[in-house]
Amino acid sequence: MNRRTFFVLLGVPGAGKGTQAKLLEDRLGIPQISTGDIFRYNLKNATELGILAKSFMDKGELVPDEVTIRMVEDRLTQADAQAGAVLDGFPRNLVQAQAFDKITEPYGGISLVPLIHISDEEAMLRITGRRVCRTCGAVYHVEFNPPKQEGVCDLDGGELYQRNDDLPDTVRNRLYVYYKQTSPLIGYYFAKGLLVELDGNQAIEQVQDQLMSLLAMKVAVA
Ligand code: ADP
Ligand code: AMP
Ligand code: ZN
Repeated sequence: MNRRTFFVLLGVPGAGKGTQAKLLEDRLGIPQISTGDIFRYNLKNATELGILAKSFMDKGELVPDEVTIRMVEDRLTQADAQAGAVLDGFPRNLVQAQAFDKITEPYGGISLVPLIHISDEEAMLRITGRRVCRTCGAVYHVEFNPPKQEGVCDLDGGELYQRNDDLPDTVRNRLYVYYKQTSPLIGYYFAKGLLVELDGNQAIEQVQDQLMSLLAMKVAVA
């Protein structure tokens, strides 16, 4: 089977995974796959999957693995993912990571796992100031990455809103869930020689440059 390029972005909620994945999508021509975005899209369209996911998302808990893994498998069958993808928010625990190894194995496995470091305090500031476009899902920050006009998406004029789960109480639980369930993946990928670490406490463009040079160093891209 053809080789594909899969990158898995790791980091606490708010680390900048979505922001960086979107930029990589433009630069590398492989799509960002954000499981959170897919759940939110389903929620917006009131699908069965969206309604199921909502009960977990509102509490900051993980949606059950079986549903999430199947959703990613489906997404990877789409035409735009035939050269690979940048995964953002998946895998989120060891069961998902093992499942993703099986899924990607026929295509040469995961190429690299960049881990973006920021502190919990910074995560809280970033998440509570995050605003998302209702129409296209573009991500802004009221202070760190503001749109040209307050409350309005630069790309399509869509309305910007604050995610339900971006309020402080839910954010605290999401951080807890990250440390408990997701952070073991750091050791898991380190042991496989796939982990690279970067400092997320820099401007968006600098994080992107650092990410691109790591990818160029470790994988044949750019
Ligand atoms: P994640 O996908 O890891 O949850 P996002 O990419 O959605 O994180 O970023 C979280 C928030 O922080 C957003 O509001 C985004 O605009 C902002 N942000 C992303 N990267 C940076 C950065 N390097 N510096 C400052 N703010 C950032
Ligand atoms: P995110 O957009 O990555 O911040 O995810 C928002 C929410 O969607 C999470 O708090 C979970 O409830 C759910 N979610 C996203 N990705 C996953 C995943 N891989 N496994 C389980 N739940 C997920
Ligand atoms: Zn938009």
